[in-house]
Amino acid sequence: MEASWIDSAEAPGTDFPLANLPLGVMRTGRGAACVSAIGDRIVDLALLERAGLVDAGGGGPVFDGPALNDFIALGPPAWERLRAQLTGLLAAAGRPALRDDPDLRRRALPPLAGATMLMPVRVAGYTDFNGARQHAFNAGSILRGPDRALPANWLHMPIAYNGRVSTVCVSGTPIRRPLGQFLPQGGERPVFGPSRRLDFELELGTILGVPSRMGEPLSVAEADAMIFGHVLLNDWSARDIQAWETVPLGPFLGKAFGTSISPWVVTRAALEPFRIRGPEPELPLLPYLHATAPLHHDIALEAALVTAGAADEAVIVRTNTRHLYYAPAQMLAQHAIGGCRMDVCDLIGSGTVSGPDPSSWACLLEITRGGREALQVAGLRRTYLEDGDTVVIRGAATRDGRRIGFGECRGTILPAPPHPAGGAGG
Ligand code: MN
Repeated sequence: MEASWIDSAEAPGTDFPLANLPLGVMRTGRGAACVSAIGDRIVDLALLERAGLVDAGGGGPVFDGPALNDFIALGPPAWERLRAQLTGLLAAAGRPALRDDPDLRRRALPPLAGATMLMPVRVAGYTDFNGARQHAFNAGSILRGPDRALPANWLHMPIAYNGRVSTVCVSGTPIRRPLGQFLPQGGERPVFGPSRRLDFELELGTILGVPSRMGEPLSVAEADAMIFGHVLLNDWSARDIQAWETVPLGPFLGKAFGTSISPWVVTRAALEPFRIRGPEPELPLLPYLHATAPLHHDIALEAALVTAGAADEAVIVRTNTRHLYYAPAQMLAQHAIGGCRMDVCDLIGSGTVSGPDPSSWACLLEITRGGREALQVAGLRRTYLEDGDTVVIRGAATRDGRRIGFGECRGTILPAPPHPAGGAGG
């Protein structure tokens, strides 16, 4: 493992060692710039590009803007080129151009603490899958009963709904409790008001870096090669609105009010050493979904809850992306198999990453068995989220002293907006 001359990159607990080099977008005095991170420092790519120390190879600048899209669209050779150039500038044994220039170092490597991170990409399309068997089973058991928990299609293909791009937001953006229509418990007619069953879903997001063509399917291997990187994702869900609206066309407003992602995109290159095989399919998959190579990753994920007004957080979920039944590449292959075009910076949610152990169940619907068993957090009772509650998601791949972290994805619940009929039935 190569060492960096930046001391904080060598600290054992850091999310951002030299081997990571995640990409994001930071607010600057001029607007926004594409950046990386190492140890406790930002790496200002726009500045290094102007200084002639990085060059993505596209024939012009790509980092001096508010999104990574232009860089990502240059494709895998540009991704590898940037990684090699940054490694060369930041490795202890690398080139001295940045290391030995105190003025450039001060300007190009501002502290991470205090940086305002923005959305890393302009998301092209957002699709959320339901890729973890335990989540599908748990949620199905609560909604339909254990005998009919898994839909007939579930073990044969990854299933999904098309989500909204307009409300995908970066970590730190507050989430307003949605208004909507739902059936109160035991009621026969819907009421309108603020959701009473507001939940989070701990997921892994996948960002595409290569487009496909309309009408042309993708193999699983082709789909895997199109992945640019991954983010943490919180698919906020209003369970009462969702339950009332979902049959027959799937989730709609119960999901459309907000989806949070982490500001750092961890690249496929950084995660290569953590590739693993997924679980053996319980039923044979149709050939177009076969995984011929390790497509999963060993990434530990956790969710913590900070109850309104509390100083401390409590970790309420510990899970791992190894529990996904379908890998992101299989989800992508399924997405494109009928001819749907995939675009650069499409965002694919994995589905709630629940594993077999109840401590790994990754949303409140599952943790509280549909709201029947309250959770005790910091001496408080919680079934679903209350106004002022904050959910923090973290993730990291760790092995043999090597750690590739994702930073965090955080969001706080604000009260429902005022509405002339906001209290009706509520
Ligand atoms: Mn979801």
